[in-house]
Amino acid sequence: MSETKTAIIVGGGIGGLVSALKLHYSGVKVRVFESVENIRALGVGINLLPHAVRILTELGLAEKLEAIGLPTAELCYFNKFGQKIWQEPRGLHAGYHYPQYSIHRGRLQMLLLEAVKEKLGEEAVLTNHHLISFDTFSDCTVAHFEDKKTGAFVGSYEADMIIAADGIHSVVRKCFYPDEGDPIFSGRILWRGLTEASSFLTSRTMIMAGFQNQKFVAYPVDPEVSGDRTLINWIAELAVDKEMPSRADWNRKIDKAKFAPAFAEWDFGWLNVPQLIRDTDAVYEFPMVDRDPLPAWSFGRVTLLGDAAHPMYPIGSNGASQAILDADALGQAMKEHSSVELALKSYEKMRLTNTANIVRSNRKNGPEHVMQIVEERAPDGFDALNEVISRKELEDIAGSYKKIAGFDKHTLNKQ
Ligand SMILES: Cc1cc2nc3c(=O)[nH]c(=O)nc-3n(C[C@H](O)[C@H](O)[C@H](O)COP(=O)(O)OP(=O)(O)OC[C@H]3O[C@@H](n4cnc5c(N)ncnc54)[C@H](O)[C@@H]3O)c2cc1C
Repeated sequence: MSETKTAIIVGGGIGGLVSALKLHYSGVKVRVFESVENIRALGVGINLLPHAVRILTELGLAEKLEAIGLPTAELCYFNKFGQKIWQEPRGLHAGYHYPQYSIHRGRLQMLLLEAVKEKLGEEAVLTNHHLISFDTFSDCTVAHFEDKKTGAFVGSYEADMIIAADGIHSVVRKCFYPDEGDPIFSGRILWRGLTEASSFLTSRTMIMAGFQNQKFVAYPVDPEVSGDRTLINWIAELAVDKEMPSRADWNRKIDKAKFAPAFAEWDFGWLNVPQLIRDTDAVYEFPMVDRDPLPAWSFGRVTLLGDAAHPMYPIGSNGASQAILDADALGQAMKEHSSVELALKSYEKMRLTNTANIVRSNRKNGPEHVMQIVEERAPDGFDALNEVISRKELEDIAGSYKKIAGFDKHTLNKQ
């Protein structure tokens, strides 16, 4: 009988934790090393697409997901005056076999952390372990960690492989691509917040309004709020005329006065954007950044996963979903190959081109490109949408993005 393989997962974010579960079910003994001392429910809302929900369902997490996620019923695009451009059903409403969830990122991370501890044991997650370097040998890898706050060395650990799920500022990626530098700034900034407000449209609708250089996204994320009041996740996005203002840090709080005036007139009747911004306590700033697709992620016994491998603009609800798809492919590759090196290369083959295509498509606004087209053709609004953009053009853009991002309904439902 072959010996049990071992893996070090660097990073206890969404990608790292789902990888831990997938590798565990593939017979690999896993430990997750997380930089922060206490993993807390940070972030605001994200969306999980049906293909990612399928993977979490297969991991036995369907009921827990249902308890914290709100099944998204539809996606609508509007121009900056609140005129509707596009409406499509989502998740189960669209005929997928699995729902799409609007969900609080932090609550999802805590759900996954709990699942990892339950299945793999408490000792499988080591916090306060920030990876600083690693060595690779023909038969194993050794990873070295410090306490990030003090810089004190906290230990070295050996395993058959290292899975680097250490996010957009990945230390491991930097070791393989030392000249890459900082993430690439799009010229746009995202301000994110969560606030209780009146529900809008179907009360499970995700909306995007505006165009490339000024956009507002809003959707409810909490299934438990009753009556007319609900917890709404929102993102205001603006192009700025300057260098990237700050390091890409998901937890940077800022003053709303920086962007709120630009949205002062955006009261659509069914959604009052300035009011939503006014009512929000904490607003977080994140520069819209990505990195160029890489030629390779897997080097011998070490590979990259999630944002470490393919950070992309948060367009089309793909950040967390693609990290979950990576984890699934990794688990599958590990089952299929006895050699670690071959498994990691096979995982890369399954995922690199697909995710590179999404990175590139998101640079051209992904499915939201329709909003940009309408802005360019009808900057003052329209009387009849079909005089601005045809139904076919709208359908082609939506359909082709679903194929690129791997959630084309017919393909997915066959799986
Ligand atoms: C705190 C936080 C809040 C976020 N909020 C949002 C949000 O509101 N909306 C949104 O769209 N996306 C958000 N994201 C990003 C989103 O979670 C990811 O795009 C997506 O889930 C892919 O996840 P990932 O696991 O690859 O990376 P991440 O979720 O970024 O996780 C990476 C993990 O690795 C850890 N880490 C980093 N360096 C090291 C190291 N050297 N050693 C050990 N551990 C390390 C980090 O602490 C983190 O826990 C957030 C990410 C973080 C970390």
